[in-house]
Amino acid sequence: MAQLTDQQIAAEVDIKGIEEIAENANIPHDALEMYGKYKAKIDIHKIEGNEKDSKVVLVSAMNPTPAGEGKSTCTVGLADAFNKLEKNVMVALREPSLGPVMGIKGGATGGGRAQVLPMEEINLHFNGDLHAITTANNALSAFIDNHIHHGNKLNIDPRRVTWKRVLDMNDRALRQVVVGLGGPSRGVPREDGFDITVASEIMAVLCLASDLIDLKDKLSKIVFGYTYDREPVTVGQLEVEGALALLLKEAIKPNLVQTMEGTPALIHGGPFANIAHGCNSLIATNTARKLADIVVTECGFGSDLGGEKFMNIKARKGEFAPDAIVLVATIRALKMNGGVAKSDLGEPNVNALKEGIVNLEKHIENARKFGVEPIVALNDFVTDTDEERDFVLSWCKSKDVRVSLTKVWELGGEGGVELAEQVMEVLDEPQNFKQLYENELPIDQKIEKIVTEVYGGDGVIFTDKAKKQLAEIDRHGWGDFPVCMAKSQYSLSDDPSLLGRPTGFKVTVREVIAKTGAGFVVALTGDIMTMPGLPKVPSAVNMDVDSEGNSKGLF
Ligand code: ADP
Repeated sequence: MAQLTDQQIAAEVDIKGIEEIAENANIPHDALEMYGKYKAKIDIHKIEGNEKDSKVVLVSAMNPTPAGEGKSTCTVGLADAFNKLEKNVMVALREPSLGPVMGIKGGATGGGRAQVLPMEEINLHFNGDLHAITTANNALSAFIDNHIHHGNKLNIDPRRVTWKRVLDMNDRALRQVVVGLGGPSRGVPREDGFDITVASEIMAVLCLASDLIDLKDKLSKIVFGYTYDREPVTVGQLEVEGALALLLKEAIKPNLVQTMEGTPALIHGGPFANIAHGCNSLIATNTARKLADIVVTECGFGSDLGGEKFMNIKARKGEFAPDAIVLVATIRALKMNGGVAKSDLGEPNVNALKEGIVNLEKHIENARKFGVEPIVALNDFVTDTDEERDFVLSWCKSKDVRVSLTKVWELGGEGGVELAEQVMEVLDEPQNFKQLYENELPIDQKIEKIVTEVYGGDGVIFTDKAKKQLAEIDRHGWGDFPVCMAKSQYSLSDDPSLLGRPTGFKVTVREVIAKTGAGFVVALTGDIMTMPGLPKVPSAVNMDVDSEGNSKGLF
């Protein structure tokens, strides 16, 4: 029998009304703002409870294949397993972006029997948050161009506007554009470009803000460009932080949905982890921490990207620590890291596993570097062989790291009970969480530390442009910010072809950009783009909708 798709499996589930989910999660009825029958936004002011009473389980991973290794799947499945064990648990996830939905990777609602519902609505537009973020971002672009057109009182140099427009789609044709063409009535011509919405600083600001007032304050601090005298110009100087915050006043509220097994899930904010900081909003995590004893949350890509940024950016800004780290590994990603071509990953190959396991080893070391004990979740594929499974399980045991063969994709929460029990063991032990660096360490040394300690590299090469930018960052007093690395997700290095556990490499930083609203400095490495492209055959060509609105092709 043909394997059912994620969408077909999701369609068979008897979904509960969101009011019932809210009631089970102790969310008062008057905190709910209904978006149809199965989704609601939450008024966080009506939520009581103490965040500090809760334990945070962070789900991270090894370096992935382009298909993803099942982090969202394992996050959802682990929460459902805790639910089976009658724990008071909540999930906190990122919102999908239409770029990967239409492109290659698919949505972000998990898979198999471990999904969040309603998957179609979450994957397409959800409650309008990405629209609001896109609009706020582009409103700022419009305000900037309008200011320059009407006399440019702030003396903005049109050649030094760093703020780009955004779109929630992979669209390589828009990476570089010229705006304002067509004569004086159409504005002042200047070079511009588009990023994908999830890379917008507004997305980062929304994800790191504690409430609307903090959001407004962060928005006002955004530097969008420089004057002819090379001085930064902020949103506050344009006096539009109020308007931008207003555009975001609904988007800042976390969205409540449910897993297939009725576990409450908050899905809010969705920066990518390769080009942005990669974690769902602090508001969603903190709301879940107030409501539940255990919060299972994920961060994007491997522990070198989302994991590192969760520790050094999100946990720092939110002043909390993860209490356990789950590292998702798959046989296919281990084989890919052992040198097997993508087209051959379905073939059994224990020798390649032996080569590739060094990648997982580094991620285990990384978790321990942050002082938190990892648990490896070997995300089981029905196509894996027993010999392959046994190799990974006994390798982990030989390294003294907890490991569980996790079958949540196939069985839902029941397939993750052993993993949940192992996580409970870690939650019962005291952890010694520590960040990799102090705020005071200069930016170049922060980057050096990430590269040498987390990636395992020999050091960093800064281009001349990056060196100049570092000097400017220092001059403006932004040196205390943490760093947000933009790097390939496929390798521990900045070169996607260096798989396994590369050594003897240096990472090239070609640009360093201060995001003064979000409060971090982005370091761009390798060829990483803040506006991805679509593949030759995008997932979009398999999508369809019928006259009644029934869709297909989402995963
Ligand atoms: P990530 O969060 O790491 O990007 P996802 O959880 O989104 O990964 O999963 C990526 C895709 O892989 C989804 O379509 C999901 O259905 C599929 N998948 C995940 N785990 C399994 C598994 N154990 N067996 C088969 N397919 C899986």
